[in-house]
Amino acid sequence: MTTPKHTTIIIGAGFAGICMAIKLKEKGVHDFVILEKAKSVGGTWRENTYPGAECDIPSALYSFSFESNPNWKYKWSHQDQILDYIRHCVDKYELSPHIIFDRELTGASWDEAEALWKVTCVQEKYESQTLVTAIGQLHHPSMPAIDGIELFDGQSWHSAKWNHEVELKNKRIGVIGNGASAVQFIPHLADEAESLFVFQRSPNWMLPKQDRAYREFEKKLVSVFPFLLKLYRLKIVGLAAAFYMLMLDKHNCIRKIYENKSVDYIKDHLTDEATIQKLIPDYPFGARRALFSDEYYPALAKDNVSLITDSIKKIIPTGISTTSSKVYDLDLIIYATGFKTNPFLLDIDVTGLNQLSLKKSWANGPLNYKGITVTGFPNLFMMYGPNTNLGHSSVLLMIEAQANYISRCVQKMKTKNWKSVNVKTNIMNDYYISIQDRLSKMIWAKTGASWYKSANGIIVNNWPGRTGEYEKITKRFDEENYEISV
Ligand code: NAP
Repeated sequence: MTTPKHTTIIIGAGFAGICMAIKLKEKGVHDFVILEKAKSVGGTWRENTYPGAECDIPSALYSFSFESNPNWKYKWSHQDQILDYIRHCVDKYELSPHIIFDRELTGASWDEAEALWKVTCVQEKYESQTLVTAIGQLHHPSMPAIDGIELFDGQSWHSAKWNHEVELKNKRIGVIGNGASAVQFIPHLADEAESLFVFQRSPNWMLPKQDRAYREFEKKLVSVFPFLLKLYRLKIVGLAAAFYMLMLDKHNCIRKIYENKSVDYIKDHLTDEATIQKLIPDYPFGARRALFSDEYYPALAKDNVSLITDSIKKIIPTGISTTSSKVYDLDLIIYATGFKTNPFLLDIDVTGLNQLSLKKSWANGPLNYKGITVTGFPNLFMMYGPNTNLGHSSVLLMIEAQANYISRCVQKMKTKNWKSVNVKTNIMNDYYISIQDRLSKMIWAKTGASWYKSANGIIVNNWPGRTGEYEKITKRFDEENYEISV
């Protein structure tokens, strides 16, 4: 069988892959394919279907700047509406012919002689001049290493693999974890369960979301005057930029205001002092992802809901036993234990120049330039790669900036007949050192483990600046920082 050759292969048809494809078309590059492991588009918004799944960034900002949507039903959209938006983009920008489903990438190797990426999927092989990974940071569910997990007689699943076949009504349910996913579905379980036990290892700082449905006249207004939606988006960008101040270690005074607000918010809904104390984190606001919910604390206040802070000792056939020798009998356990956020490109075996393995070259941390390129891996571009996650704003802003940068490069490669671009070693190293230096001054450095960090404590996921700064450094393809072969 012949191996199809393309200018660009994009891996993943989530927000990042779709944005990349739109930007390539905009630059006149049509010879690309998107290889998608599943049978449909949507990435994280296809996978996470738990009850109450919704965005914790307002939709006016959690959408592409070039594709405003006057039809959002809520200020903070629900999973199905976000998935519809992604499908709408696929249709409007005519991307379907470019997408090949059921193609799971296992390896990619750079062929220097031919200046091509040779891409291996479980099902087929492909070749392309440039390779863009758009596989997200949160798509490998992480199951906890708790003794006895396989012994449980009831049903269990991870929040990202929700089993909608199982009736929740009148069940005794245990939820392990209380992060961004858990706080969205716990209120729904609280309405159904006979008893609900929330096993919390550490509390999170939380603020109200103040969500509501958009009124009909508001939707009409923005469809007639689209600039109003743009203005609203700008307002949220401004609020997010202000929220960024909290991410800097030095702004303790502002942080205290937010911590007090959060404690007041707990007290608005819960009266038992012991429970209130259990919900107050011992780390600074912003050091781990702050949460937004209107429903979580009211759910915890319900009679059928208990917050358990004893450490889990093991899972037993009938439920969960804790270190204080208590046993919780359960019908169902839901693991809301997050995702394997690094190493990046976890399941993909990437080899670059001189058979250099990406895993090996990242042994001490994911060296990167702008979170997009890596020395020794010519024509490889990452979207939502290392050090491009945010604690204060919409990651779609970062994704759009990356798609602009990469598509400009691909366009230049075509028009100037470049074979390959490889970021210069000193440029990448200096960039990475400066980013890590800035990250040491961020509040994320002031707490222990979090998904922002690798096992050895390096902040590998987050970007230390505002989104505007990132947009600025990705505004043009800086060819002077790359070795170019023609
Ligand atoms: P998460 O924030 O990583 O939370 C995992 C939870 O599981 C934490 O409470 C953690 O406790 C607990 N946990 C992990 N291992 C455990 C163990 N062995 N024993 C007991 N507890 C354990 O995961 P997530 O809630 O799925 O959210 C992940 C990210 O997805 C979010 O930060 C966010 O970026 C994204 N997300 C976004 C949205 C959105 O609206 N855009 C919605 C949902 C999720 P510790 O805190 O003690 O580690």
